[in-house]
Amino acid sequence: MYRPKAVNPNVLASFRRFQSQFNVAIIGSGPAGFYTAHHLINKNPNVQVNIFEKLPTPFGLSRYGVAPDHPEVKNCEDTFNQVAENERFKFFGNITVGKDISLKELHKNYNAVVFSYGCTQDNKLGIPGEELPGVISARKFVGWYNGLPECQDLNPPLNKIEDVVIIGNGNVAIDCARILLTPPEVLSKTDISDKAVQDLKSSTLKNIKIVARRGFLESAFTNKEIRELLELEKYGVKFEGVDPKILDPIIPFKNKFDRITSRRLDLILNQMKPPQERKKLKYKIPEVFTKSWKLEYLQSPIEAFENSKNKRLVSSINLQENQLYHESPDSPAKVKSIPGATHLDKAELVITSIGYKGVSIPGMDELGIIFNERNGTILNDNGRVLAEDHSVLPGFYASGWIRKGSAGVIASTMMDSFTSAGFILEDFEKGLIKGSDKKGFEKLDLGKSVVSWEDWEKLNKFEKKLGESFYKSRYKVMNVDQMLEIIRDDSTNEDERFEKYKELVSNQ
Ligand code: FAD
Ligand code: NAP
Repeated sequence: MYRPKAVNPNVLASFRRFQSQFNVAIIGSGPAGFYTAHHLINKNPNVQVNIFEKLPTPFGLSRYGVAPDHPEVKNCEDTFNQVAENERFKFFGNITVGKDISLKELHKNYNAVVFSYGCTQDNKLGIPGEELPGVISARKFVGWYNGLPECQDLNPPLNKIEDVVIIGNGNVAIDCARILLTPPEVLSKTDISDKAVQDLKSSTLKNIKIVARRGFLESAFTNKEIRELLELEKYGVKFEGVDPKILDPIIPFKNKFDRITSRRLDLILNQMKPPQERKKLKYKIPEVFTKSWKLEYLQSPIEAFENSKNKRLVSSINLQENQLYHESPDSPAKVKSIPGATHLDKAELVITSIGYKGVSIPGMDELGIIFNERNGTILNDNGRVLAEDHSVLPGFYASGWIRKGSAGVIASTMMDSFTSAGFILEDFEKGLIKGSDKKGFEKLDLGKSVVSWEDWEKLNKFEKKLGESFYKSRYKVMNVDQMLEIIRDDSTNEDERFEKYKELVSNQ
């Protein structure tokens, strides 16, 4: 007679869990939120994912950070759109967690809560003059040209400036410099804000200095991005080079550098040669240069000074000269100041590009979630959120920039999110996350202000159509009330609605 083998009870329990519905709330719809959702939905057929997003629009820094002249980077949104089409996914836009819904409420209704809400504030230099209107953060400047609603009051006084100093030399600093130096007509076809294009057209900018506190070998930019800036030469933008005091001591060691660093040095040295001695010139060098830029090293800002003629500007920035040192042969280079070695650089505008900062969400304390105010991240172990005693806090996870700080491109954010999502599934399958009574969004009362994915698609369609009439890839709506008005208006047919809002939005 056939006797079925006894099934291991652990396997059976695991199988039941695999079959039971599992609700995950993700806070933030940037790359981290969407890639976490992607992994969860793809790997377990019983996971339901709800994303809560502060803005009516999804995609975080893919929409509001990535430079408008880098549209290929935004291809990640194709994957995010596929995730959103899945029936086990729901988008709750225009909902700020900690304000429109509490963390406690999410915890009550979801088996797992994932923090993927990025870094939404600025790191600070902590120097006198930093709060002057003539000192702006790269985050605000980027948000301004990318149409982020909260940055639309920035209105940088581009028609009053000649010299700009950018502090920090990461890729965000390079993005800011490229947007300021590229002819606005070239940018106008992208999804850059039309207001930014108009202001850039009236810009009186002449020179940009990109100032780093450490040396050339510690440059934070990548080669592709610096090459793009060098190639603006074709539009009459001159690269003023790097001080020989910085480069001469390192050139003899070029053979010892890794391939990327050696290539970086080649790029810079090649550009500093007279045109006839340079290799691979893909364009004709113009006879007239209208703008210039320079890479400066071993300098830290110590004070910015207000411009007595115009309070919206600064007049100069005081820079402290530094020297490098290593605590041990293998440790990263640090700097110490050279006593008495300071100088003033003329600048009407200073852009601080020293990283974005994460902030806590109200209610974290109550749930035992530890927020590290100093580096703006949530205490976690590879994505599992930890309590004060460093034990795992069941049901809480983190991914992306809020997990580890504002470093990493979209590809690394994706890998990070897959790791966190993997831990969620592992913990669920091992029965470490409890709560069969947690019903997800069913019991939430979010009110009428929620923007669904269908609502966003309506706005998306409008922005693309408006873009077409302005020969742009997209014309972003930059005001939340206008976004909601467009979404909620079902009064007339689509064409009439389009005409109605076209004028309103293009005058925003
Ligand atoms: P974010 O993209 O910031 O997403 C966080 C989301 O959470 C946002 O939508 C935000 O509105 C939402 N949110 C915040 N608080 C709340 C709350 N309380 N409730 C609900 N929602 C909330 N990478 C590249 O690969 N290529 C590039 O060219 C590139 N360019 C960049 C340019 C700039 C200026 C910057 C700053 C970064 C760039 N990056 C680029 C890096 C890339 O943008 C990041 O790796 C990635 O966006 C981080 O994703 P995230 O989801 O952690 O954060
Ligand atoms: P980043 O690459 O970390 O660069 C930050 C810069 O600020 C560094 O030069 C750093 O110098 C400097 N800095 C930090 N604190 C400072 C202080 N107190 N005083 C003076 N200088 C200070 O950060 P990011 O440029 O904001 O970019 C964030 C991430 O997004 C990066 O991973 C970047 O690659 C990515 N991104 C990618 C692209 C792209 O691929 N095209 C575009 C934009 C952004 P030290 O090195 O000395 O600390």
